[in-house]
Amino acid sequence: MTSNHNTRSRLAVGLMSAPEVDINFISGFESNGPRHFEAGSLESRLLIEPASADSVFEVGGITIGVGFHWQQRQAQRFAGAVELVPDGDNIVVINHVDVEDYLCSVISSEMNANSPLEFLKAHAVISRSWVLRQIGNRHTEINDTARCGADEIIRWYDREDHTLFDVCADDHCQRYQGVTRVSTPAAVEAVKSTAGLVLTHGGEICDARFSKCCGGATEIFPTCWDNEEHPYLKSFRDILPPQPLPDLTTEKGAAKWILSRPDAFCNTSDKTLLGNVLNNFDRTTTDFYRWEVTATADEFAALILEKSGLDFGEIVDMTPVERGPSGRICRLKITGSRLTKTIGKELEIRRILSPSHLYSSAFIVEKSEKIADNGKKITTFTLRGAGWGHGVGLCQIGAAAMCDAGYGFRQILEHYYPEATIQKAYE
Ligand SMILES: [Zn+2]
Ligand SMILES: [Zn+2]
Repeated sequence: MTSNHNTRSRLAVGLMSAPEVDINFISGFESNGPRHFEAGSLESRLLIEPASADSVFEVGGITIGVGFHWQQRQAQRFAGAVELVPDGDNIVVINHVDVEDYLCSVISSEMNANSPLEFLKAHAVISRSWVLRQIGNRHTEINDTARCGADEIIRWYDREDHTLFDVCADDHCQRYQGVTRVSTPAAVEAVKSTAGLVLTHGGEICDARFSKCCGGATEIFPTCWDNEEHPYLKSFRDILPPQPLPDLTTEKGAAKWILSRPDAFCNTSDKTLLGNVLNNFDRTTTDFYRWEVTATADEFAALILEKSGLDFGEIVDMTPVERGPSGRICRLKITGSRLTKTIGKELEIRRILSPSHLYSSAFIVEKSEKIADNGKKITTFTLRGAGWGHGVGLCQIGAAAMCDAGYGFRQILEHYYPEATIQKAYE
């Protein structure tokens, strides 16, 4: 155990759930060696603490990438304590691990090791803030919330909390592989040099959101999730020294902004920078600061039907009803020959208008009509947009550009989370 262990937090990470579990206690336990557990013979919780700080145990058959195309099962290794909890016909395997050790693993798994160090340090503080908020925050409620009226479907998606542990080991929370793979030196340095640091506001740890590219202006929380305002998640231009943000909530203001390419930290097509920040970055895609998508009314109708189950008939128009201060639409009125409904919020709009997800909901709608050779009228919609992701909190591409411009992680965090304080959660 490290000498300051008692003042640090220990996290309960859910690794897997199965009727039978094989665990090989490799080293550092009172009795090392393989053990087999079955749900039928496990009557109550069983916590197995290590006898020394360099404990390692291996859990067989963990499914990684659940629901993703890379889903596979493999044995993984972990440090710390293991707990087995009977849960119906299954055993839930939980790893109790020091928060700092957990962060070394997740930063190694989730971030590109070639990212600038100050960028990784900023992310380590965000990740630590996020994970400390999850400790003890176990609910059964589902945070996928909808408000449906006769002419409106407004829903938003937030992460569902777990009931038996703080976080899971999969992409749903943050991908955690324990000590299966050696942590990257860059991740370890980012975590160690920011040890214990979190973002706080009013004595509470911040809900430090981030997305890939704000599009030049950051967004506020209620445009994307519930109506709670957070003083440290503001809308502002992604540039220093500060410049005033025009009113992007009007159609005129949004169009002028989106059809231009205003200076911003994230207004970059530097492929090295983008490749170093975005994992599995497809180097042909650099057009997310400003982008466009075109489809016919029929194509949009088919897509919306597939994604939402709503049959609008022929799509006659798509009209932004409400925009957040970054220009992101949170209520979009879709007028069809059979149905007219207003859809929201940000993610729901992105979800139903694209086979995958639209880059963002900061777009303007252009409608054009032409007569085909067969005399049939063809309506086409072009969506011209800005940014990639919800735009709330830290803008990853902007933060990487700030590193290139010589800013440190504290300046990056102060820029993206104004009014937040960077302080130690523990020594
Ligand atoms: Zn989870
Ligand atoms: Zn940005």
